[in-house]
Amino acid sequence: MSVIEATAPVAVKTPLVANPDLFSAKPSLIGLTREDMATALKAKGVSDKQVRMRVSQLWHWLYIRGVSDFDAMTNVAKDMREMLKQHFTIARPEIVEEQISNDGTRKWLLRFPPRGAGRPVEVETVYIPEAGRGTLCISSQVGCSLTCSFCHTGTQKLVRNLTAEEILAQLLLARDRLGDFPDREAPHGTIMPAEGRKVSNIVMMGMGEPLYNFDSVKTALLIATDGDGLSLSRRRVTLSTSGVVPEIFRTGDEIGVMLAISLHAVRDELRDMLVPINKKYPLKELIEACRNYPGVSNARRITFEYVMLKDVNDSLEDAKALIKLLKGVPAKINLIPFNPWPGTNYQCSDWETIEKFADFINQAGYASPIRTPRGRDILAACGQLKSESERMRKTERMAFEAMMIAGHGEDDD
Ligand code: SAH
Ligand code: SF4
Repeated sequence: MSVIEATAPVAVKTPLVANPDLFSAKPSLIGLTREDMATALKAKGVSDKQVRMRVSQLWHWLYIRGVSDFDAMTNVAKDMREMLKQHFTIARPEIVEEQISNDGTRKWLLRFPPRGAGRPVEVETVYIPEAGRGTLCISSQVGCSLTCSFCHTGTQKLVRNLTAEEILAQLLLARDRLGDFPDREAPHGTIMPAEGRKVSNIVMMGMGEPLYNFDSVKTALLIATDGDGLSLSRRRVTLSTSGVVPEIFRTGDEIGVMLAISLHAVRDELRDMLVPINKKYPLKELIEACRNYPGVSNARRITFEYVMLKDVNDSLEDAKALIKLLKGVPAKINLIPFNPWPGTNYQCSDWETIEKFADFINQAGYASPIRTPRGRDILAACGQLKSESERMRKTERMAFEAMMIAGHGEDDD
């Protein structure tokens, strides 16, 4: 199998990639800073003289060549490779399920080892190919401790933070599956991308609140943007937060990526209900933090995400208040049609209402793209991600998919 032309959603069941180290206690070398990798190697007897060279060799193999097997590191001496194998792992997580939407969006359900106590955990990662770019939507936590009322992930309790390795592994694995590492034959079963459909952008918009897992997210994103490795441009990496105000400045200062704010309401009263973290950090503080975001300018605007909920936040009064609220902040506004999930009481605004809302904002001088929902049929769109035991039962999902295919909620193109 090399190419799957998806005309209807396709699900490939497990395990596509079995992780031999799934239950191993060996630490991974992926997701360590150079300093931490050096410390780990020295602890296993690599000499002070050699350690820098070894770190840069490993960095190259892991992040430029994308290998997941020590034996592929052909310029590393055999006894060194044996030592590495004995003490460390660089294996990918297991792919439990890979689904392909009829719009080409791909969703992977990945399983990570327990890392200490507990059970293995599962997270979802989504790849969205578009003309001229490919965006990977990465998760930062298993579940979420926040409870935004319109978000599917918010109905799943927080299980745990992902480690830097696990955050980065989502990128490495997607690049494996898309044949996106140079000089390497695509592994058996890889789904090759069409021209230009590789990972060019990252959004921290999967499961979880990235700023409640700041240190691991920071380490992973610094490795993803490291010029001697994965080399993603910081301008092509966007971190989305529901509004963890105390960590916003550090995000710009220490990671230097683009910022997106899940705004969704322009009055505290309503935002308290939709995005409950607003009770802790209300709009005034949030907007102030945005004004002070390091590097913000007209060339580096902050994205404000605004989910369109029928009769909740979609009036022209809301649009007016939105313009007023964002005055003086270099901003673009992303209007997201609400993506339904089983059990929600919300509905997506009518298309006409969304367009009127967008026009109003546009006339006030803001870019206001309406985000085309992607991957809705496989529950891969914004806010639809969920994993672990609470995923829909198969029968539920089949009913839901049938509904999506029949065209309900497909009033978007
Ligand atoms: N926790 C972070 C990162 C998740 S980003 C945050 O909230 O910013 C996912 C984006 O999709 C957020 O803007 C979120 O508010 C939005 N979202 C959540 N549920 C949604 C839904 N059902 N339909 C559309 N967008 C949704
Ligand atoms: Fe968590 Fe973001 Fe969903 Fe809110 S919108 S529940 S912060 S994932």
